[in-house]
This record gives sequence, C-alpha cells and structure tokens, in this order.
Amino acid sequence: MSAEVIDGKAFAEKIREQVGENTAEFIAQGGVQPGLAVVLVGNDPASEVYVANKNKQAEAVGFYSVAHYLPEDTTQDALMAQVEALNADPRIHGILVQLPLPSHLDSDAVLNAIDPDKDVDGFHPVNIGRLWSGQSAPVPCTPLGCSLLLKERLGDLAGKKAIIIGRSNIVGKPMAALLLAANATVTIAHSKTPDLPGLCREADIVVAAVGRAEMVQGDWIKPGAIVLDVGINRIERDGKKKLVGDVDFASASAIAGAITPVPGGIGPMTIACLLRNTLTCAKTIDNRLNT
Ligand code: NDP
Repeated sequence: MSAEVIDGKAFAEKIREQVGENTAEFIAQGGVQPGLAVVLVGNDPASEVYVANKNKQAEAVGFYSVAHYLPEDTTQDALMAQVEALNADPRIHGILVQLPLPSHLDSDAVLNAIDPDKDVDGFHPVNIGRLWSGQSAPVPCTPLGCSLLLKERLGDLAGKKAIIIGRSNIVGKPMAALLLAANATVTIAHSKTPDLPGLCREADIVVAAVGRAEMVQGDWIKPGAIVLDVGINRIERDGKKKLVGDVDFASASAIAGAITPVPGGIGPMTIACLLRNTLTCAKTIDNRLNT
C-alpha cells in the first residue's frame, strides 16, 4: 500500500481563505478589525523570518498586525511592560510572544501575564484549564491544525485509537485534550513509555511530536493508519542540509493510509490556525465589550 500524502499547504490555504472571508463578514457587520501583535526577543534569523511571515499572512486576511522586535538583553520588567501595554491596547486582540525566550527571561511569568482572552497561542493556564474542562478557549495552534485535519479526513473520531508521541505543553498535551474531546481513545507516549512500537501498531491515528529525526518506523504503523508528523528536524544527509520529521517517511508511507510530509504537512497549518484564533479572540472581546 502507498499512503496518500496529505497536502498541508493546500489545507492551510483553505483555512486562511475561510478566515479572510469570516473577517470581512465580521467587519461588515460592525465588528472590530482583528489585531495581532507578535513579540520577538533577540535576533534569531529563523524566528525573524517566521515573525515577518506571520505578520504578512495576518495582513493578507484583513487584520491589523504589528511586530515588536526587542533586543536580546531585554529585561524581564521591560518584556512584562510590553505585554501589559498590548493587554491594554484596544487595537490588539491576539498577543503572541515568540518562544523560546532568551534563558535569562522567565517564560512562564510572561505567558501568565498575557490577558487570557488575547492568548492566541492558548498557552495561558486559564486556557489550558478551559480546554481540558470542555469550555471554549483559544487552542494551541499546531494541535488545532492537526485536529482540524483529522476531522476533515476521518469525520467522526469516536471509536478511533490514537497515540500521541510527545507530552509537551505546546503539542502533545493539548493534542490529547482535543482528541479526547472528539471521543477518540487516547494514549500519550513519552521518553519513558515502554514498547512504543507495539503501542503505535494498535493506533488508527499517530501524532508524532518528539523532535527526533525519523524515529517512528514503518513497521510501527498499523496498515491504513493516518500519520501526522509534527516534527521539524534539520539534518545533514549526503552533504546536504534538509528538513525531516519525526517519522521515517519512506517506510511509514508504504504502510499508512495517509501521512503528512515534512516540510509541507503540519507546519503551514500552524500559522493558519494562529489567524483563526486571532479572529475568534477578536469576536470574543468585541462581544464582551458590546454586551
Ligand atoms: P518537546 O521537546 O517539548 O517534547 C518532546 C516530547 O517527546 C517529550 O514529551 C519527550 O518525552 C518525548 N520524547 C523524546 N524522546 C522520546 C523517545 N525516544 N520516545 C518517546 N518519546 C520521546 O518538543 P515539542 O513538543 O515542542 O516539539 C516536538 C517536535 O515538533 C519538534 O521537532 C518541534 O520542532 C516540532 N514542532 C513543530 C511545529 C509545527 O508547526 N509543525 C510546532 C511545534 C513543534 P519526555 O516528556 O519524557 O521528555
């Protein structure tokens, strides 16, 4: 069997189009123009490209968009003051602080300072609690993208067995909450999980978010399963630098029913879901102010 390769770029484009249409409709009905602010501390070139891309895509769907570039030696107080200013800014409905922050900064304190209603990344403890207790909340962008994709492909997830490899706050744990809420039966695996290949072989859905190049092998996959590869690993092969996922694409795609490639799979959906979350936050805040 040869797996269908899922085109994440096309799916992301569809989400962006929907956000653009919904934004135009919301503004036409008297809603506020959604505003997204991204804060980047330091000069990491890859993060700068990523932030610029987020702002470009935000403007393309009709948002007000602003980026704050702070120097590497920014103090905790200065960063907290920036977050507070954005919390108070009525033009801004979504605040994203690009992670990781330089090591002298306390990320938890910064994330906890973001107004939960403007927390487009869904990392604030209040929103984590809302997600796990079934209340509406901004959901972390990468797992949200995975979940939308799974629902589009599989429809009802009830009765499906899912394994998530990785238990980070950014991907693994919120992914588990979403799949559980969708009535899948969920296993969360991590570095201390015994017999990972055996557990994987039982799963109809595999979400790999490990950060280890090509770790998940084809003979770990149940025939016909859907495999979402979240991993982004930079490796050198045959003297060339390349990006690979956490799944060994060649062997897994021979067994799986459908699989996301790296690049071009889950990655593009993350920014699309950030835009979706920003619009949702703008609607929530606008609604709160007008009722
Ligand atoms: P973390 O490093 O925070 O978490 C990795 C998880 O993998 C941990 O829970 C760890 O277990 C687990 N793990 C590590 N080694 C093994 C192993 N040998 N067997 C089983 N589990 C293992 O990573 P993130 O969740 O932040 O990211 C994961 C990957 O996804 C990375 O490649 C990252 O670049 C990518 N990513 C991609 C995004 C996108 O937009 N496509 C967005 C975010 C991340 P333990 O907890 O026991 O240490």
